[in-house]
This record gives sequence, structure tokens and C-alpha cells, in this order.
Amino acid sequence: MSYCVNCGVELGASEKRCPLCGVEVINPAERSDPSAQTPYPRSVERVRHRVIRVAAARVLSLLMCIPLISILLIDLIQDGALTWSLIPAASIVFAFMALVFPCLFERPKVWLFLLFGTLETALFLFVLKMILGGDWLWLFALPVTALTGAALIGVCLMLGSRRAGVPLKLIVMLLIMMVFVLVLQMLIEIHLHRCIRFSWSIYAAIPCALLSLVVLIIGRLIQRSESFRKKMFF
Ligand SMILES: [Zn+2]
Repeated sequence: MSYCVNCGVELGASEKRCPLCGVEVINPAERSDPSAQTPYPRSVERVRHRVIRVAAARVLSLLMCIPLISILLIDLIQDGALTWSLIPAASIVFAFMALVFPCLFERPKVWLFLLFGTLETALFLFVLKMILGGDWLWLFALPVTALTGAALIGVCLMLGSRRAGVPLKLIVMLLIMMVFVLVLQMLIEIHLHRCIRFSWSIYAAIPCALLSLVVLIIGRLIQRSESFRKKMFF
């Protein structure tokens, strides 16, 4: 039977580290046996992580409540109504959702968070539009947000794909980048000049298209040399 040299907790024969404080178990008289039965269920570690995550979410929530309430109170006392404070308040709520929400998940899926982030940004922009007014939301801000979100989710899904090889991943990412810059300029031109025109985006899109072509050719060459090597048994 071993005891933790740091916190004194009794250790099971399977422990390599103290389950309480994490200190490494070194007992020359009794080596740890990984095959031995653990003295507690494996889910304990998961529960511990969940407790830490929930505690972090609570601390963050409390920390964000302080500036939120302060800003709203200052505005109310100064102007007798909520005016300028709505913009920083919306920003704090936005930051709160972006930081606290991921804390509640054990294994966060990146694409899901990107989707959530996109929807959240759209909501934030909508709130800003309600406060500030103007015609920038529907034809510019929301389409740019949707475009950026879609591009990021596409890249994320492609990088995480197990079926696709490196050349295909590179090609798809370059094509996503190409479409992104072209559509971005299109949206900017529609918003500023009410017309569709491509200039700077072409200079970014052409190298992307050419690079994807180069990657495609290299990928084919590698594939052919590989199949040739297999046929010739060397
Ligand atoms: Zn310990």
C-alpha cells in the first residue's frame, strides 16, 4: 500500500499519479500495477473536469456581471434612461456567450462552436442595428458574417475529415479562400456602389486557383507513382 508523499492520500496499486493532487507516485518497494483494479470508477476524473468547467463558467459569469451592471447603472443615473450603455452591454453579453458557453462542454466540436459563433455574431449585429439604425445590416453585415462563418466551418470540416488526403484538403481550402474573397468584394461593391465589380479580389483569387491546380497535379503524380510502385512490387 502506497501513500501520496504530498497530500497523504491512500493510493491504489494501479495509480501512477495521486488522484487528488496529481503528484507522481514513486514507491521503489511497491511498483504501480496498471492492470490492478482502480479503487474508484473511471468516471471520477470526468466528474472532476465537469465541476471545474461549471465553476469556471460561474466565475466568468460573475466577473462579467460587474461591468454590465455598472455600465447600465451609470447610464441610468446620468441620463435617466438606457442610451449609450446598450452598445457596451450588448458587447459584454456577446463576450459572455462566446466564453462561457464552451466551458459547459466536455469535448467541444469546433464546427459547432463556429456555427454558434456565427449565429451569435448575427444576433449581436442585429442588436447593434436596433440601437444605431442604418441600412448596413441586411445587405452587408449579415451576408459578410454568414460568408465568414461558412468559410470557417468549411475549412474546419475539411481539416477534420479522415477520408480526404492532404492534397484534397489543400485544394478545397484554396477554393474556399478564392470564393471567399470574390464574394466579399461583391458584397462590399453592392453596399458601397450598388453594382457588382471585381478588382482586388481577382489578384487574390487567381493565385488561389493556380495553387489549387498545382496541388492537384502534384497529388495526381504522387498517386500515380504510388500505384506504379505497387504494381511493380518494389
Ligand atoms: Zn496527493
